[in-house]
Amino acid sequence: MAKSRKTKKTDKDTEKMINPSTGTAGSPVDVPETTTEESIEKTVKSKLTALYRLQSIDFQIDRLRSVRGELPLEVQDLEDEIAGLETRVEKFNSEIQELETEISNKKIAAQESLELIKKYEAQQMNVRNNREYDSLSKEIEYQTLEAQLAEKKMKEFAAEAEAKRELLNDLDEELAERQKNLEEKVAELNDIVAETEKDEAVLLKKSEEQRARIEERLLTAYQRIRDNARNGLAVVPVERDACGGCFNKIPPQRHLDIRLHKKIIVCEYCGRILVDDEIMNSVQDV
Ligand SMILES: [Zn+2]
Repeated sequence: MAKSRKTKKTDKDTEKMINPSTGTAGSPVDVPETTTEESIEKTVKSKLTALYRLQSIDFQIDRLRSVRGELPLEVQDLEDEIAGLETRVEKFNSEIQELETEISNKKIAAQESLELIKKYEAQQMNVRNNREYDSLSKEIEYQTLEAQLAEKKMKEFAAEAEAKRELLNDLDEELAERQKNLEEKVAELNDIVAETEKDEAVLLKKSEEQRARIEERLLTAYQRIRDNARNGLAVVPVERDACGGCFNKIPPQRHLDIRLHKKIIVCEYCGRILVDDEIMNSVQDV
């Protein structure tokens, strides 16, 4: 936003409003106006109406942007959740893979033991003495135990892999569901973004047109108050004898001055520009 410019024509009221404390308002600087003199509102009442209308437009723009701002967060949450699920699926898959490798290793080990047993049994047919026979018997006994152990391990690993596969199935289902949600959410988001961007463009044009009708100094003040206000409202109505922005009480004399539209009056607490019902009601549709 441009720095506060001074119009050639001195307006005590707006000057007071723009710089109530710094005291720099009094020094006139000749800066050519960017807008044509004819289109600019002259009376206090029309100035306030124009300003209030501008704010109604700007407020709608703010609202559109905030609606749009929250949607990507929802999508982000879903994406994070999906990434977490995918990591778990990956982990389960690699664990199952490891178990499968173990199972096939044990299967080979068991087969090798069985083949050795066959070999030793054949050798036993051709032994020369008891010592050789006993030695082979011990080997056969040992390989039998080895084969049994391998079989036992195979069963254990298979059961473990099966349990993991079941969990993996559940995870896969959950993941598919989340991905479907995400697709829907992204489509919804795209629709809303397209829709709000279209609306925003219309409103931005309206805002621009409305700004052209308001003198530079007043616009600068409006923008400054708006930027500082938490709710983005620079022009507020008097509601139940209180400022509609900060809710502080407004003295009856001040309220009367606001109704008279003789000068632009700001809230002494929050600095917002105050308008009465008449101006507020004259700006219903924007
Ligand atoms: Zn206030």
